[in-house]
Order: sequence, then structure tokens, then C-alpha cells
Amino acid sequence: MSSSTVEKVKEKLGIADVIGSYITLEKAGTNYKAKCPFHNEKSPSFFISPDRNNYYCFGCGAKGDIFTFVQEFEGLDFMGALKILADRAGVPLERDNPTFRTEREKLYIAMEHATLFFQRQLGAKSDARDYLKKRGIIEKTAKEWRLGYAPVEWKSLFLYLKTKGFKPEDIEKVGLIKASEKVHGDYYDRFRGRIMFPIFDPSGRVIAFSGRQFEPDGTQAKYINSPETALFEKSKVLYGYDKAKLEIRKRDFSLLVEGQMDLLMAHQIGLTNAVASSGTALTHEQLEILRRLSNKVVIAYDGDKAGVSAASRGWQLALNVGMDVKIAQFPEGKDPADLAIESPEILKASIDGARHIIDVELDHIIRNEKDPREKVLKIEKNIIPYLSEIQSEIEKSHFISKISHEAHIKEDVLWKEVRKREMLTRPITSTYRQPEAQKPAVPRRGS
Ligand SMILES: [Zn+2]
Repeated sequence: MSSSTVEKVKEKLGIADVIGSYITLEKAGTNYKAKCPFHNEKSPSFFISPDRNNYYCFGCGAKGDIFTFVQEFEGLDFMGALKILADRAGVPLERDNPTFRTEREKLYIAMEHATLFFQRQLGAKSDARDYLKKRGIIEKTAKEWRLGYAPVEWKSLFLYLKTKGFKPEDIEKVGLIKASEKVHGDYYDRFRGRIMFPIFDPSGRVIAFSGRQFEPDGTQAKYINSPETALFEKSKVLYGYDKAKLEIRKRDFSLLVEGQMDLLMAHQIGLTNAVASSGTALTHEQLEILRRLSNKVVIAYDGDKAGVSAASRGWQLALNVGMDVKIAQFPEGKDPADLAIESPEILKASIDGARHIIDVELDHIIRNEKDPREKVLKIEKNIIPYLSEIQSEIEKSHFISKISHEAHIKEDVLWKEVRKREMLTRPITSTYRQPEAQKPAVPRRGS
């Protein structure tokens, strides 16, 4: 990439605008200050100087320009940060360099070719397009999210990528093919007969795929996902994040949906702060990614799954890192994807009316459990774990007096249970917090 591209991008974008789209800035003379996104702090020691076009944190020493900021904040390499910023500045990036600059870049380009291949296949596969239409996905959405189709043949993608000059080892490295068990040195496509959902990194580059079964491929799996690769670390990726991130900050909450289809429908009707965990349990890393943009998360999962299930580790984690976790509840028998098609207004109202996870859980138990002993046991099993993870003692006490009142349990008994649980989980809690504490603030360039 020529240095003039970098300079052009720098000229067009103000550092305060770029950083201000990720974190909240306060004016401080001719500079700006903010709470540092790279270390945990209560009062701002992160300063941005528009004159010098740089930032510096007096707390952790983080420093740099718009490129280092985006790299660090988004967890990207330089090329990824450049892509985000060049798009934003409207500066075209010279692409199709025939010689790959780095091994890693070669892998990204293989994924890009695969995406284009799948997109073309979908264009020629009318029954797959009809299926998407029936599920409510309009063409514009399919294009925007670059949906595709993997033919049912054993090696169509493999052969195609070979004609593009990729070696089998590289195609295998990004998880698109598997080595044959029968013929040494032979390979076959991992995704066959599937509707393909590309998974993007924060800069919008394709790093993995999720394939939904459409034609029989000899497996029973409804969804197949890319394996972990050099480009794809599952625990750090949220589907839709690249398109949702700025909206999460603007609306000050992230909307968490379950699967790819739910996600596409949400964005299609304007819920553009939605991300999907793609069926897996939420990880600490994913929560941290969301928390930096907003402390609030609203869960919009199917039916009864989210709140009214046994207390889930993912939400305990979220409460534990001090997040505000709310649950959107839908009319009986409806899930978010149905509502997005039938009555988007009801879906949006359910999200606006989302309630704290403990309130939802408590209501459910009080309403459904008539036997007093069962009621108490359920509270112990499903609510105490959440309660003990809440960081604020004031909030804790608010919920305890509410539970005491509604379930007729003495407050001191509830406190005792909560403290007991806190003692039990303390070692676990501290392990979960470790990554944050140990995270190097920012690469110390030149030191
Ligand atoms: Zn800092």
C-alpha cells in the first residue's frame, strides 16, 4: 500500500471524529479527553490532540494516531485498520496486487475469492434464492451481507481457487477444504449444498463462513461453521459486529440475537445495533468487545430460552463485568424472526420495553410456580447466581428487597445465600477477570 494512501486518509479524517465515534470525548481546551478504552479507569486520563493528530494516555502509556487506535480498539492488523479508515474517508484502496505482500494477506484474498464464488453460485440458484425470500430476506439484504451458495459437488470451490493460483495448503489453512481420508494429497470442499453466510472481521473482511444445509450433503448438521483458523478466532467474533458497532454506541445498547437469520432480519427492519452470538455461549472476549461500546445489552432470543432457563453462565459473566442485562419478551409463541416479518412494530416495542434479567426471571417463577417450596428452590437455583454476580451492592439490595417482598423470603436469608455463593464463585470470578487485568495496554512502539 503506498504511503500516499495513508497520508490521504489522515488528511481527510479528524482524529477526534474517528476516536469520538468509538468512545465519548470531552472538550479540554484545544484537546479532548476521555476514559481510556485500553485500561480500566474511573476518571479520564486519555488525551487527544487534534493539532498534533495523536492521542496519549497518562494512565497506561497508550499512544498513536488514528491507525494505531483503530488497530488496537478493533483488534485488527494495519491493513484492516486502513480498510476501515479508507472506506470512511472515501479514499480508494488499490487492490488486486498480483503478488501477496504477506502470508496473511493471501489468506484474506482466498476468502474474498471464495465469497465471490459463492455469491455467483447463489445468483444462479433460484430455489435457494426463493428459500431466502420465503424466510423474509430481501435481495438488498442478501447482497449487503454477501450471502452465497456452495454447490453440492465435491470440489467445485477447491478447483476454482486452484485456477486462481491458490495452493491446496492455503485453501486448507482457511478451512474451506478438507483432506481426503482415502486418497493421499486429495481434498474436498467443506461446505457443500449449503447457503453461505460470510462472517466478517471488524473491518468487513471475510474471515469465516457459516453454511446452512439446503441440499443433502451426507451430514446431519443443519449448520456447519468454519473451523478456527489463523483468521478466525471464534471466541472473539460476533456476527454482524462490523456493521453494528457504530450503532451500538449511538443507541447506547447492543441487541443480542441468536442466529444469522435473526440477525439479518433485525438489520433489515432497522435494528442495526444487533449482533449474533451464533449459537455458542457468550465468551468473556465477546462481552468485552460489546462493553467498550455500551454497557447495556438487550437479549432478544427465541421464546423462553434466554431469561427463563437455568441461570446461564454468559449472563452471569455480563453482570459480573458490570453490564446492564435486559431481556426483551415477546407475545406468546412468537420469536424475533417471526415478528420481524409479521409485525416489526411489536418487535421494536418489545425491545424498548426490555426488563432486567432478574425481574424477568423472578416474574416467571412467581407466575408459574405455585408450590411454595419449589418456588424457593427455583429462586435459589435461577436467581441467586445472577444476584451474586451483580457488582453494585445498591443494586443487589434493590433486588433482594424485591424478591423478599414478592416471594415472601426473609431478606437476611437471601443475603446469606448470596454471600455463600459469592464465596464459592470468587476464585472463578477472579479468573474471568484476569484477561482484562493482564491485557497489555497497547503495544509500546519504540520502547
Ligand atoms: Zn490508558
